[in-house]
Amino acid sequence: MQTSLPGKDAELFTRLPNGRIKCTACARLCEIPEGKIGLCGIRGVVNDKLRLFVYGRVIAGQIDPIEKKPVTHYRPGTDIFSISTTGCNWLCQYCQNYDISQRRKVEGTETTPEQVVENAAYYGAQGIAYTYNEPSIFIEFARDCGIEAHKRGIFNIFVSNGYDTPESVNMMRQFLDCITVDFKGSGKQEFVRRYIGIPSADPIFQTLKEIRDKTKIHVEITDLIVPQVGDDLEAARKLCRFVHDELGPDTPIHFLRFHPDYKMMQFDNTPVETLEKHYEVAKQEGLTYAYLGNVPGHPLEDTYCPECKSVVIGRYGFSIDTWNLDANNCCKNCGHQIPIIGKLHKVRKKNHFQFIH
Ligand code: SF4
Ligand SMILES: [Zn+2]
Repeated sequence: MQTSLPGKDAELFTRLPNGRIKCTACARLCEIPEGKIGLCGIRGVVNDKLRLFVYGRVIAGQIDPIEKKPVTHYRPGTDIFSISTTGCNWLCQYCQNYDISQRRKVEGTETTPEQVVENAAYYGAQGIAYTYNEPSIFIEFARDCGIEAHKRGIFNIFVSNGYDTPESVNMMRQFLDCITVDFKGSGKQEFVRRYIGIPSADPIFQTLKEIRDKTKIHVEITDLIVPQVGDDLEAARKLCRFVHDELGPDTPIHFLRFHPDYKMMQFDNTPVETLEKHYEVAKQEGLTYAYLGNVPGHPLEDTYCPECKSVVIGRYGFSIDTWNLDANNCCKNCGHQIPIIGKLHKVRKKNHFQFIH
């Protein structure tokens, strides 16, 4: 019986002449026969319809600072209600959330979009992030949460691998305010094939162009730098050049330090000098706002005024401890405008998130 099925009918698909249904939520474009599921494990064909089994099933929810996404040029200092479902369209061997993302089961607390937004409001969050697994795979649920969120003045962020389609970008237009697109190993083909299980990063570049041309979504770029196998400087240069030429020199880019996890325990943390070299590449390619991430206390966590070089936003990890911008987000020292959407919501002191025993 249709009514006893978990989830809800999906909207992003096309029917194929051979009777299969092609899911168009992500660039895998799975062609799914009756009774089978797609690679993500949470969309499948039942009774000749594509079903999103995890619609209304939230497996994780917590309050995070927006800086943790990482997002630094959109609504700084805000609190975000982060949610996810099970499943993922990537098979990253280093995934820190593998217990959620690689679970091919329909699990999680039954939660309506209204309840998601109610929780966000109850905990004082200004935004909702769809994160921990790839949100495009549950985009119909995210869209319904996002539309509800907008009614309450709450914004929406995707933390996405960008392995999307024109159809999913089109749906993002209905509700999404901000996206941080996470490259890994700078999208180098050898890396993404071996450690992620995708043939190439090309769809991510297409997604970014699509978002640029068809939406007003604020975009930030992340690049996870994995030592030895995903730290190629020429690949980083190619990515930086794309970001500069196609998205603009003011697009923030974050180089993240890798920590060993899941099936990649044999690798060490990324050396800080490696991250600094990536930062230099970004600067050489003309990107104005490059950052290092997962290195609390490093000076390249801060935002520098490109004009007078002073620190306009000082950070420690996910905390903002210095704010030298005026009411128009101009440098207090020289008046240069810094492209940041929104005013500082609140200063977070370094120990704000420590548990009290
Ligand atoms: S969202 Fe899932 S079912 Fe759809 S194309 Fe991607 S991996 Fe396949
Ligand atoms: Zn300045």
